[in-house]
Amino acid sequence: MSDICPLPPELINQIAAGEVIERPASVVKELVENSLDAGARRIEVEIEAGGARRICVRDDGGGIAPEQLPLAVASHATSKIGSFDDLEHVATMGFRGEALASIASVSRFTLTSRPRDAEAAFRVEVDGGAIGDSRPAPHPPGSSVDVRDLFYNVPARRKFLRTERTEFGRIDELLKTLSLVHEDVEFRLSHNGRQVRMLRPANDERAALARVGEVLGEGFTEASLRIDHQAAGMRLSGWVGLPTAARSQADQQYFYVNGRMVRDKVVAHAVRQAYADVLFHGRHPAFVLFLELDPAGVDVNVHPAKSEVRFREQRLVHDFLFRTLHEALSETRAGSITSQPV
Ligand code: ADP
Ligand code: MG
Repeated sequence: MSDICPLPPELINQIAAGEVIERPASVVKELVENSLDAGARRIEVEIEAGGARRICVRDDGGGIAPEQLPLAVASHATSKIGSFDDLEHVATMGFRGEALASIASVSRFTLTSRPRDAEAAFRVEVDGGAIGDSRPAPHPPGSSVDVRDLFYNVPARRKFLRTERTEFGRIDELLKTLSLVHEDVEFRLSHNGRQVRMLRPANDERAALARVGEVLGEGFTEASLRIDHQAAGMRLSGWVGLPTAARSQADQQYFYVNGRMVRDKVVAHAVRQAYADVLFHGRHPAFVLFLELDPAGVDVNVHPAKSEVRFREQRLVHDFLFRTLHEALSETRAGSITSQPV
């Protein structure tokens, strides 16, 4: 056996990156969530070669003070929580203070930022984990993160990247997911210099529905019900697809808990049950649903990518979801829009 040695910090970051940064879409997720946490109203994502060559996320958010730039790219440094107690009430998308350090350890990375009230912007470059000096750079208020040659120093990871098209498809899907719940933010997405998506901010119900239509297609908006129901300290709102909007794949199921898209067994079961007697076997419902509940009733600190949650009161959540959806769907069955004999 060899001696026990502490790992060098750069290696620690690369190992952490292995957990959270699987592919270009994971980088986009972390960067766009940071922009949202910074209060951005406009977020622009530029992708080259499916993200393997370049990922750039630009926002008009609050920005970072020049003296804080090196901290922003350091690991376990965050402005979002300060105590264990805060963990119970995280309202931001990020809180681990690990994303930028992880991404920077496996790419050629540049962060440029200018706080709203500052005269000038500063830039810090990180190459494979080595943090350079901050220098003045031109930039409007807000931040830009430029990630080039992702995984250039982790050949095993780079080899696992799929085709440009597949990787870009995942990025596009991720942006759809985020744009549905941040409907008041403008999103632009381009690939290899061509604009692919341009979602205007929606400030009323009609515009919000239009955005849902852009993301899920007109077929969904024409065959869905708006729901908004509160009970037992919880609120469920959004759109549920009618049986006529059902699909052969479960590819249009957007479920958010306190603004975070999640995949959860309790949720999936409640939804499946609610649709059980209106859907044919093998058909999958389409929906965009937002569940809001007391943050203390849900643990988001289960998985580094935060796509999993744990409800304190599983049974209560399950029954609330099932009842609300079942009721909404049975009203359609009783009404004139019935599409299948019951
Ligand atoms: P976390 O989001 O978990 O705090 P990150 O590594 O993603 O960790 O970011 C570290 C810190 O850098 C954040 O807490 C935030 O203060 C700052 N930051 C990152 N991206 C932005 C951005 N786009 N605008 C403003 N501040 C940012
Ligand atoms: Mg973050």
